[in-house]
Amino acid sequence: MKLLVTGGAGVIGSAVIRRCLENAEIEIINLDKLTYASSEETLRFAENNPRYTFEHADICDGGAVRRIMADHRPDAVMHLAAETHVDRSIGAPAEFIETNIIGTYNMLESAYAYWQLLPAENQQAFRFHHVSTDEVYGSLGATGLFSEVTPYSPNSPYSASKASADHLVRAWHHTYGLPVVVTNCSNNFGPYQFPEKLIPLMILKAIEGEPIPIYGKGDNVRDWLFVDDHADALITVLRQGALGETYNIGGDNERTNLDIAQTVCRILDDCLPKSDHAPHENLITFVADRPGHDQRYAIDSAKIRNAFGWKPAHAFEDSLRKTVRWYLDNRDWCVGITDKKYSGERLGLEHGNNVTKNTKITKNKGST
Ligand code: NAD
Repeated sequence: MKLLVTGGAGVIGSAVIRRCLENAEIEIINLDKLTYASSEETLRFAENNPRYTFEHADICDGGAVRRIMADHRPDAVMHLAAETHVDRSIGAPAEFIETNIIGTYNMLESAYAYWQLLPAENQQAFRFHHVSTDEVYGSLGATGLFSEVTPYSPNSPYSASKASADHLVRAWHHTYGLPVVVTNCSNNFGPYQFPEKLIPLMILKAIEGEPIPIYGKGDNVRDWLFVDDHADALITVLRQGALGETYNIGGDNERTNLDIAQTVCRILDDCLPKSDHAPHENLITFVADRPGHDQRYAIDSAKIRNAFGWKPAHAFEDSLRKTVRWYLDNRDWCVGITDKKYSGERLGLEHGNNVTKNTKITKNKGST
């Protein structure tokens, strides 16, 4: 199978590519713009593999996407490319509208034009797999779980842009017959995650002996999943998912942010017993809450578990320990980011009024 992955230089896309290249039947074309959130180092493992091709392109550039599809003739598309950090979406929403909505529209239009010209048997086998988030469902109270039929209720510019993209994918299936599958997953963690995200930010702050920021009271709950388990779930749905269906993916592993911070600190105490900063828990510092912070996400993943037998293969504490160890052992990768791209400052406390800077969202580059 030839699989066109978008956003393969990100944390989840690179885990998918690593997994796919272990399988001799899969050839990967990775379409990525290499935004701030990516790193070429992340993909070093793939660059000499004859079954891997990199295409440096923007999903908002319809001409480039159509050219890539025509050149490589993929059997399936797994669409992960997105702006992904909620705090950045609060400070600067325009990029999220551009990439997540217009970019997904471009991917759908390009895939539809390509798919229509395929021979009938290839048309039937083709899949457009859209990768989304549980955040589209909004926020839960103390009880309940998000299922595939939970009404959409996105609260942040990020989740609203992903919800819009999900609706477009649904429409391209129902109106035009494009063979799609959609997955909505809970919070991921693992190696190569950009250090603006909660777990790597905590790890790097703690290693440096800097305050570990906890938003509000630290009682917001997320359902955490190791990135390799998400990658396995995505490949499972790509191969076996029923057309037009949505599958929720989660770890059945709810934790408060404070609990995550305390666990990271305990692991670091074990790994770095002689550190001047131990016990690392003393670094935990409560800071102003995120505007509109969703209280709780929790996933009912019975559908994917019952249909395909998928379940997470990694225990939470083991994979968190593995992740902490990875950040300790890969300081060059981290410093490459903290020196040049993001040094751990607080983001997303208010709207950054970037509307005029990004007027390009009013027109769609090169789409049909
Ligand atoms: P990431 O931020 O780590 O990586 C995003 C990748 O997309 C980067 O390589 C970036 O260069 C690329 N990209 C961004 N804009 C692009 C554009 N215009 N054209 C081409 N490439 C572009 O993201 P991630 O955490 O790996 O998330 C991947 C997908 O999974 C996203 O769609 C996200 O919404 C979804 N998701 C993420 C999580 C999570 O916890 N990380 C959970 C559920 C769903």
